[in-house]
Amino acid sequence: MALKKPNSMEECLYFTNRSIGEGFATAWVYRGTCPKCNTPTVGKPIKKNGKVDKKADVYECSKCKYQEPNEETESKLKVEIQYKCPHCGNEGEATTEYARKTFEGVPSYVFECGKCNKKIGITKKMKKSKKKK
Ligand SMILES: [Zn+2]
Ligand SMILES: [Zn+2]
Repeated sequence: MALKKPNSMEECLYFTNRSIGEGFATAWVYRGTCPKCNTPTVGKPIKKNGKVDKKADVYECSKCKYQEPNEETESKLKVEIQYKCPHCGNEGEATTEYARKTFEGVPSYVFECGKCNKKIGITKKMKKSKKKK
C-alpha cells in the first residue's frame, strides 16, 4: 500500500526531510484520531502562550479536548517513511513505531531497508542553540 504524503504540516505531529549518506528519508507522523469524536485532531496540548506543550505527558484532541496518556496515543501512531537506502540505493517505503531507539548512539526512528534489510536511522535533531531560561 502506497503511503500518502501529508498535504500540510497541520496534519502531522512530526515531519522531517533528511539526507542520509548517499540516500535520503522523508518521514512523518499523522495526528492521532480521537477515540471520542473520531477526527484526526489529536496532538500535544497547547499552552496558554499558544505554543505546543511538547513535554506534556498527555495528548489532547484539539476539538473536544479529550486527553490520553502519551504511551496510549504513541502506541497507536506510526512513523511513515519514504526513503532511498544509503546502503543499496533502493527506493521504497517503510513504517516504524513512533518511539525512538538508540541507533549508533543517537536517539532515532529506526527502520529497515526492504531490499538489503540494513537498518537505517532517522536521528533526532540536536538543537544547537541553547534555550533561554
Ligand atoms: Zn475529540
Ligand atoms: Zn538497502
